[in-house]
Amino acid sequence: MMESGQGTALVRGPWGETREVPEALEELARQKTLAVYRANPWLERLTEAAGAIIRADVTHTKRLKMLRALADRINVAVSKQAACRRGCDACCKIQVEMTGWEAKIIGEEMGIKVKEPAPAKAEDSKKRSMDLLGKPCGFLKAGECSIYASRPIACRVHHSLNMDAAMCQPEVNPAESMVPTLNMTMLHLAYAACSGKTGAGDISEFFDEARRGPSVIERCLDDGNGEGSGVGS
Ligand code: SF4
Repeated sequence: MMESGQGTALVRGPWGETREVPEALEELARQKTLAVYRANPWLERLTEAAGAIIRADVTHTKRLKMLRALADRINVAVSKQAACRRGCDACCKIQVEMTGWEAKIIGEEMGIKVKEPAPAKAEDSKKRSMDLLGKPCGFLKAGECSIYASRPIACRVHHSLNMDAAMCQPEVNPAESMVPTLNMTMLHLAYAACSGKTGAGDISEFFDEARRGPSVIERCLDDGNGEGSGVGS
């Protein structure tokens, strides 16, 4: 909740809705974004870079790997300004959207079987995101990603330009959270264009190993019953 009397600014939330956030946080995000662009002027040409990958006359696999390299470059570019730190796993407890083509690449690299996800309806996306809030990805082991070198592109570019990870926690009401990021629209569009019609879903729909643990609410209920959380591996 915001404190009364605090200046607020209107920003666009993850579902396209407008929401009020403290002006100080909005200003911090703006300063961090400017610092990232100042230190990495090539980001001004992100649209061109993504477009070149879409148009590259190579296989889907090669294109996705080029996109992965671009995602890693973005990751390095934002890392100095990001609130993200080793050991913070809040973003591993939300939906990780990916396509069948990327799952195929990860499956081959990790030597694990890829499943066919159930056909998803577009209108399910928001509900699925809410259902997965707080459920840890099955690849998260002892607070670290066990497939780090092969992790999905969505994980590579996920970041927060906030002052810390407080707003990233799944316990925060999504309607009140504010996790500022660089504009990744072009990267997401390129990802969709490079993946072809291979189906999309949460990472847990493609890999048995990524089966999700209990949500925050389920863990609270378990604790209340004295049965323990069962979280972790
Ligand atoms: S694949 Fe790795 S980085 Fe991505 S959500 Fe799972 S544990 Fe986290």
